[in-house]
Amino acid sequence: MTVGATPAPLVELGGVSVTYDVPRQHAVVEALQSVDLAIARGSFTSLIGPSGCGKSTLLRVVADLMAPTSGQVLIEGQTPACARRARQIGFVFQEPALLEWRSVLENVALPLELQGIGRAKREAEAGRLIDLVGLSGFEAVWPSQLSGGMKQRASIARALSTSPHVMLMDEPFGALDQITRDRMNLELARVFEETGVTVLFVTHSIREAVFLSDNVIVMSPRPGRIVRNIEVELPRPRNLLVRDSQTFGELVRIGARELEQGYDA
Ligand code: ADP
Ligand code: MG
Repeated sequence: MTVGATPAPLVELGGVSVTYDVPRQHAVVEALQSVDLAIARGSFTSLIGPSGCGKSTLLRVVADLMAPTSGQVLIEGQTPACARRARQIGFVFQEPALLEWRSVLENVALPLELQGIGRAKREAEAGRLIDLVGLSGFEAVWPSQLSGGMKQRASIARALSTSPHVMLMDEPFGALDQITRDRMNLELARVFEETGVTVLFVTHSIREAVFLSDNVIVMSPRPGRIVRNIEVELPRPRNLLVRDSQTFGELVRIGARELEQGYDA
């Protein structure tokens, strides 16, 4: 936790609202309503809330995949479009979306290749990231030969390849079984602690959110609003034993209660 003067947030949302037009139904869907959020550099923030409350929409406006209807987003004081062009944003989706005709190494190196980085340099960097995510020995393997958890490791390595300032993760472990998911949580906590990258992570699991995060942002049902920012002051580096602590149990209970209350708000 920061002591003294608060540094400028890395990502800042001010009054962000998003409305989707659904012309065929002559309707508009209000997905986000006046969201203010400040994300500190080097922090891990989770967004949690019911399906359809606008979590993916929020990530999309930060990633410059769409513009907000009103309000603004700043990343290090610049627009998301600037940050995206400078390859400062990494994105990991629920579906790993690896290219099947490329090896793991070539997949991880792809963003660097698109940036015009030479083969030797990009493969060295991709190799380092493959080590970091625990996939050493699988460099030459095709994606179809990997398990679900291994595919997500490869897509995390790929997202890290351009040294992004912020990594956006949209339910990356939602399709994994519980044991694999626990292991991925542990690996992601380690990768976060080793790289210092700022993470904005979406999940349905309050336990996953508390385990990984410094801040858990609880959202209301649609239109998504922020109902609570829960600070998680559990020590790092984190290991799975932290989940047996009283503090962990208490934070999970608070999160669950806030989610419940959001439904009635
Ligand atoms: P979440 O990720 O929290 O499940 P989303 O951000 O995907 O929520 O969606 C928020 C709301 O906006 C939902 O009601 C969804 O149906 C609606 N929505 C999302 N994308 C579109 C779109 N392209 N057109 C119309 N409505 C959309
Ligand atoms: Mg979503």
